[in-house]
Amino acid sequence: MLPNQTDVLIVGAGPTGLALANRLQQANVDHLVIDALEAGLNTSRAAVIHAHTLEMLEGIGAAAPLRARGIELSHFVIRDRDRRLLGVDFSILPPAYRTLLMVPQSTTEALLESRLAAEGGRIHRGISAVRAEADGAGAVVRVRTPQGEREIKARYVVGGDGMRSLVREAAGIAFDGAAYGESFVLADVRMDWPLGASEVSILFSPAGLVVVAPLPDGSFRIVATLDDAPETPSVADIQKLLDARGPRSAPSTVQEVTWGSRFRVHHRLAKTYRRGPFVLMGDAAHVHSPAGGQGMNAGMVDAIVLGDALVEMVRERAPDSLLDDYAAIRRPAAREVLVLASRLTGMATVRSAPLRLLRNLLLRLLDRLPPFKRKLAMSLSGYSRRHYARLPDRSPLATRAPARRLSPKARPAV
Ligand SMILES: Cc1cc2nc3c(=O)[nH]c(=O)nc-3n(C[C@H](O)[C@H](O)[C@H](O)COP(=O)(O)OP(=O)(O)OC[C@H]3O[C@@H](n4cnc5c(N)ncnc54)[C@H](O)[C@@H]3O)c2cc1C
Repeated sequence: MLPNQTDVLIVGAGPTGLALANRLQQANVDHLVIDALEAGLNTSRAAVIHAHTLEMLEGIGAAAPLRARGIELSHFVIRDRDRRLLGVDFSILPPAYRTLLMVPQSTTEALLESRLAAEGGRIHRGISAVRAEADGAGAVVRVRTPQGEREIKARYVVGGDGMRSLVREAAGIAFDGAAYGESFVLADVRMDWPLGASEVSILFSPAGLVVVAPLPDGSFRIVATLDDAPETPSVADIQKLLDARGPRSAPSTVQEVTWGSRFRVHHRLAKTYRRGPFVLMGDAAHVHSPAGGQGMNAGMVDAIVLGDALVEMVRERAPDSLLDDYAAIRRPAAREVLVLASRLTGMATVRSAPLRLLRNLLLRLLDRLPPFKRKLAMSLSGYSRRHYARLPDRSPLATRAPARRLSPKARPAV
């Protein structure tokens, strides 16, 4: 039975909606999650969870079970076909987590959904938000259900509804940016891979970029730029890609494609994350290239920080301005992620031969500079953006919700 009223209406049960719902359910905050889909997407998509995201997910008890379902890597290596250019070693990171956790998005979503159910929460599926308007006490959202249309009143409406967010549109928030020229092909494949299963490899070549990352079931995730990516890549498509861009000295043999997709990358950031009762998180607020695997990570951190703010506001009667604090810290975090993803994409897609030579030379020089490599590891892991994940301390008279705190081992080392 779908209630008519709630404190927090979460539109979208992707990874961000699920993370926020877990946080609110655990703190006993009245909320409702709706999703247009009858069932979760159950596709691989985002395959990496970074160290900072893990420490944030610890707060909702999801870090350990995710680690149990994934494989942990400590190396990220940039190569130009056979030549190693730059390696990043995540074991030099501060304590807490020193790892790249490889786990398909479908596993992450299933885990968050089952934890929510175990805590007594639920997702109302097959329910689409079709219109939303602010009213005096919050917002009224019109939803389409299998039984017809109806309205839900909410004090706050959270847009976890992805890149084409209805909540963002209803709030009149601009989503400035553009689409990249390239499209990306993604595939999970079974293959003999000469570089083994202990690193994420980013291979540059004149033909373009290819990323190869091991997955927990022994398969590999392939991500590659292509001018005209096939909608469902075949074994022959991926074999051709690896022959043209992978190591020359030890070719790979692709046996099976277990999942494949393509997407055109946008590079966009919402003008603000909050307007009146409407708040944005995840892809509704920021989208960018998959280079560096940051998208879902930044979104899940948004969700946990937003959850902290909503718990304090709804349960502890903290002022509504906490939502502005949330927006003020998370938007700059996304801007940094957009810059990082854009630099990595730009560097990886250089076409001119002299520029490629220069880029490779520079990367090999940087490979000899430990401070640079540490900085890159901090940025990729998200640790360099930890300060954007803590709501500002309020006056000593203001109450703060005790439900989620960074554990001592997860507290920033600097
Ligand atoms: C093919 C593909 C590959 C990707 N690969 C990577 C990768 O390698 N690394 C990476 O970091 N990221 C990757 N991404 C991006 C990553 O999947 C997203 O960043 C992540 O899913 C964002 O989570 P979200 O919860 O913000 O939104 P979404 O996952 O988009 O979830 C939004 C949810 O809202 C629901 N919804 C939408 N509108 C409404 C409505 N009006 N009413 C009700 N429900 C609604 C949708 O049904 C959906 O379930 C990939 C995406 C795709 C499509």
